[in-house]
Amino acid sequence: MIIIGAGPCGLSAAIECQNLGMNPLLIEKENIVSSISHYPTHQRFFSSSDRLEIGGIPFPSVERKPKRAEALAYYREVSQRKHLRINAYEKVTKVIRTEQGEFELFTADPHNNIAAYSCSYLILATGYYNHPNKLHVEGEELPHVFHYFKEAHPYFQKNVVVIGGKNSAVDATLELEKAGANVTVLYRGEDISDDVKPWILPEFRSLERKKNIQVRYDAEVTAINEHYVYFQSGEAHEKVQADFVFAMTGYHPDHAMLQRIGVQVDEKTGRPYVEDTTMETNITNIYIAGVLAAGNNANEIFIENGRHHGERIAASIKQKALLSHRDE
Ligand SMILES: Cc1cc2nc3c(=O)[nH]c(=O)nc-3n(C[C@H](O)[C@H](O)[C@H](O)COP(=O)(O)OP(=O)(O)OC[C@H]3O[C@@H](n4cnc5c(N)ncnc54)[C@H](O)[C@@H]3O)c2cc1C
Repeated sequence: MIIIGAGPCGLSAAIECQNLGMNPLLIEKENIVSSISHYPTHQRFFSSSDRLEIGGIPFPSVERKPKRAEALAYYREVSQRKHLRINAYEKVTKVIRTEQGEFELFTADPHNNIAAYSCSYLILATGYYNHPNKLHVEGEELPHVFHYFKEAHPYFQKNVVVIGGKNSAVDATLELEKAGANVTVLYRGEDISDDVKPWILPEFRSLERKKNIQVRYDAEVTAINEHYVYFQSGEAHEKVQADFVFAMTGYHPDHAMLQRIGVQVDEKTGRPYVEDTTMETNITNIYIAGVLAAGNNANEIFIENGRHHGERIAASIKQKALLSHRDE
């Protein structure tokens, strides 16, 4: 059995399969829980630590809701204690289904060394954080335009434009303002999203009211260059100065890989077909774990609920093994 992706849900699926006597191999293109490692450095989870636990191993944290660094330490500890088999820094580049219904996988490491694997069961747990939703405007690929926010210090006394109006945009804005950046938020909605966590909103509103940050709603970005972000608001075409731009416009799963393997993906929602009770896709013996199952709406599945997919997958595979044993 191979699990592609060693995020919290891939790790959890591996442990659940181990618990039922299987010995899965995790293949991960970076290192374990790389999505969490890419969070802003000082990010605090919105979940309490007990809701991030996997494999029944307690996650003690300093406060009820842990910080990024505590979660990284926790998942490292779990991987070690459970003796998980992890091939890190290997990206799965191709999956082929053989005529016998098995799977052949090809991977490349950072030096482009190729390796091949085969397995009978494949669990896809590749998440969504690697593919930012692009603005598709001129200038988006310039070196001062980012889709991830790590920390605020480098932007002290700089003009920074944050594009977006959801949690990651609000979080980045608060950090940047604290670090002395001159922040303008451009959001195409009429007001900050209802999904924004209620405990971060009051600070944002206060900065907005006091004009410590500039916020423009109904602002559709049309182009970016070295010095400005251009946007349209109603009929007006405007521009704002920007030394740096954070396009915090969300992320989406890699549908291409799923489709190449033959997994059905709903065109509208981006949701792959999975049997709810087993997490098996339309391709026999291919399963999905974690946020990948949510399609484009990443707010629907997160660690809190995606960590339980492994239990369903392990039970299904075990059941299949028992049935085939009985038939022999
Ligand atoms: C700032 C922030 C805060 C968050 N806070 C919370 C919270 O408080 N509570 C909560 O429940 N959720 C939270 N989330 C959401 C949570 O991070 C995701 O739901 C979670 O990471 C999903 O886990 P996963 O295992 O499905 O996918 P991921 O964690 O994204 O893991 C997927 C893994 O697959 C690997 N991978 C991808 N493609 C390949 C390939 N081709 N070959 C090999 N490996 C590959 C990736 O490198 C990655 O390590 C937060 C997200 C963000 C951005």
